[in-house]
This record gives sequence, structure tokens and C-alpha cells, in this order.
Amino acid sequence: MRPLIAGNWKMNTLRADASALVVGLIEQRAGEDPGCDILLCPPFVSLGLIGDIIAQSPILLGAQDCHKEESGAYTGSISAPMLSDAGCGFVIVGHSERRAQYNETDLLVSEKARAAHENALVSIVCVGETLVDRDADNTLSVVEEQLLGSVPKSANAKNTVIAYEPVWAIGTGKTPKNIQIREVHDHLRMLLENNFADGNEFRILYGGSMNLANAGEILSIKNVNGGLVGGASLTVKDFWGICTSL
Ligand code: PEP
Repeated sequence: MRPLIAGNWKMNTLRADASALVVGLIEQRAGEDPGCDILLCPPFVSLGLIGDIIAQSPILLGAQDCHKEESGAYTGSISAPMLSDAGCGFVIVGHSERRAQYNETDLLVSEKARAAHENALVSIVCVGETLVDRDADNTLSVVEEQLLGSVPKSANAKNTVIAYEPVWAIGTGKTPKNIQIREVHDHLRMLLENNFADGNEFRILYGGSMNLANAGEILSIKNVNGGLVGGASLTVKDFWGICTSL
């Protein structure tokens, strides 16, 4: 399957930084197909700007979150139909920062993913253990519970991507050993195959301190079908380098 490399810009970039970044990526992509799909997830306020700039390029557009409801009295929130309308094809749901900072539960994440599916968006559902979970040897049971609780019945390999992101690896410069990544991705694949008819076709991304130096190795692990990249997605050199390290 064609890998997906997704850049999660989080709460970074003003308009000028955002357009410089995307223009640089478009230039690189125009000269070479790196053999993967490239997705950018900028802050909500830059979606229109980035969407206009990438309109004629193969680069894909996504958001970092959506509300579970389609519209209504939810001040400050953005719905899945709004994202579709703004030109997004993807939305990240259940990122560990949202789970931790906004108390998002598996049930809420699954409702957001379902809202995404009902509005022609691919949901990128994030799961991952904390350091306490890992040290207690609970990694597989934690990601299993999150996967089964956060991925709705409406999911299939076309409308859902899974991202395994160990919480302790996000933004820390630390990554699991390759064998540990392999173990979790194999487990997620088994769960997807047992629960969804096309479970063998879901893309499972790795995320957490992926960078130029480690991307090639991580992306070559079995059942790693791409990456979700935070910090290293904020420069053309690093992000393009990751895209071309497959
Ligand atoms: C993320 O937040 O999704 C992420 C993977 O961040 P970083 O690459 O900075 O660890």
C-alpha cells in the first residue's frame, strides 16, 4: 500500500511561515514523486490559505481535530462538514494532546471519527501508551482498548488511518526501539483484521519524534505504513527528507 506521511503542525505557524513552508514543499513535490502521499494538517485558520496554495498539487489537506456534532451552540469549535467545505480530506482525532489537555475519551474520539466519515473525511485515529503504561508492561492492552473504543463501526481502510503515537515519544526526541514499534503495529494489524473486513488494508502510521535520522529505519518496519510527524514537519528540509526516506 502507498504510505502516507502526515505533517501535524499543531499550534504553530503564522500565515507567512505557513505559506513559505507549503510553497517549498510544492516545489520539491513538483520535481519528484517520493512514492508516498503527503498530507499537511495546519491550524484551522490557515486551512483556506494552504488549501488555495496546494490546489493544483498532489499534496493533501487535513485538520487537527473536529467536533462530534455537525453544527450548533459549540462556541469555538469546528465541525466535520465545515472541514469538508474548507477543502479538507482528512482530520486527526484523538491526538494524545487532545486526550490529555481536553479530557477526550475513546467514546468521544469514536464519535468524532464517525462525524468525519459522514462528511467524506478520512479520520486519522491516534492511539498510544504513556511512559507509566509502558513501564508497567501495559502497552499492548492500552493501545488495544483505545483502538477498539476509538474506531467506530463506520470505519474501513478507505475512511480511516490509525496512528500509533507513544505519548512519551511525542516531542521528546525519544523513540521506541524498532522491535517495540513492530510489536505494537503487528498487534494493531491483528486487531484491525479481527474487527474489520478490510483490516489488512488500513494504513498504520508511526508518530513520535520521527526525524530525518530515524525515518528511513522506522518506515521500513513491517506494518508501518507511514508517519505522523510533528516538530520535523515544520521545515521543508526535514519534512521533505522524511518523505523521501522511504
Ligand atoms: C505528533 O504530535 O503527532 C508528533 C508526532 O509530534 P513529534 O513528531 O514532534 O514528536
